[in-house]
Amino acid sequence: MDITLEQLGFSYQPGSPFEKRALEQVNVAFRSGSYSAIIGHTGSGKSTLLQHLNALLLPTEGKITIGDRVIQAGEKQRGLKDLREKVGIVFQFPEAQLFEETVEKDICFGPMNFGISEEDAKKRAREVIQEVGLSEELLTRSPFELSGGQMRRVAIAGVLAMDPEVLVLDEPTAGLDPHGRTEIMEMFYRLHQEKGLTTILVTHSMEDAARYAEKIVLMKNGTILQTGTPREIFSEADQLLELGLLVPEVVRFQKAFERRFQVKLEKTCLTMDELVEAITPQLDKGGDTI
Ligand code: ADP
Repeated sequence: MDITLEQLGFSYQPGSPFEKRALEQVNVAFRSGSYSAIIGHTGSGKSTLLQHLNALLLPTEGKITIGDRVIQAGEKQRGLKDLREKVGIVFQFPEAQLFEETVEKDICFGPMNFGISEEDAKKRAREVIQEVGLSEELLTRSPFELSGGQMRRVAIAGVLAMDPEVLVLDEPTAGLDPHGRTEIMEMFYRLHQEKGLTTILVTHSMEDAARYAEKIVLMKNGTILQTGTPREIFSEADQLLELGLLVPEVVRFQKAFERRFQVKLEKTCLTMDELVEAITPQLDKGGDTI
C-alpha cells in the first residue's frame, strides 16, 4: 500500500498552554512493498510520525494518503478501523500488552475485535505462531510462562494475525540481546519479502537501517532533514555525527582508513564484503607501506 504524507504538521494539545509542536511540514512517500527506516535523535518526531500511519494521531495540518484512504487535517474521520486493520504497528516492548490467559487467546484478540470469527482467528493464530518461529504447542500456554524473547514473538504474532499490508516497527528489538536482535530483524525481513509487506522501521541501529532499508528518512526537530538510500545517507557521516547519531561500523572503518591513508574510496561501503573489495586495490598499491 502506497503511503504519502504531504505538508504534515502536528501539535500535541493545540491551543492549550501545553501545546507542543512535534511535526512540521513533513513530506515523504513510502512506496508499496518497500522497506524504509526512520532515524533521528530522541525527540525528533519519529514516534509521532508513525502514529499517524494508522491514524492513532490525526494531522493538525496537511494530508496523509494510505492506499485509497485520504486523511485531511480538520476533516471528520470515519471508518478508521479499516485503516487500523491494514496498518499493523509493533510498538516498543509489545509484550507489555499481553494480557490473556493463553497465547492463542492473545493472538486471536485483535482479529476477533475486528469481526473475524473465532474459528478463523484460531486458524490464523496457528499460522502466525509459526511465522514468528514458535511452536504451535505454545498456543495453550500462558504468555506469562514464556521467555522474554518468546513473549515478544507472541505479541508480534498478534499484529500479524490482523493480516496487515503495512508493518510499522518502533524499535522492535529494544532490550533484546544481540543474537535475539538479529533473529527478530531477519524474521521481519523474511515476512517483508514473503508477504510483500510495506515495512517502516524506526530504529537507533544504523547497522539495521543500512542492512535492511532501501530508503532512509532522517528526522530532526520534527522535520525531515534528508531522505535517501542508505549509501546516500551514510555518505554524509559527518552530518549524522553532528546530530549525535552513529554511522554503521563499516562506514566508520572506511572513514578512518581514508584519513589514515589519505585516500578516497569510490563509494561508501555498507557491508564488510564491499569494503574488502574496495580497499584491496589500495592495499595492493600501497605494498609494504600499508
Ligand atoms: P521520537 O520518537 O523521535 O523520540 P517523539 O515523536 O516521541 O520523538 O517526540 C517528538 C516531540 O513531541 C518531542 O519534543 C516530545 O517531547 C513531544 N511529545 C511526544 N509525545 C508527547 C505528548 N504525548 N504530549 C506532549 N508532547 C509530546
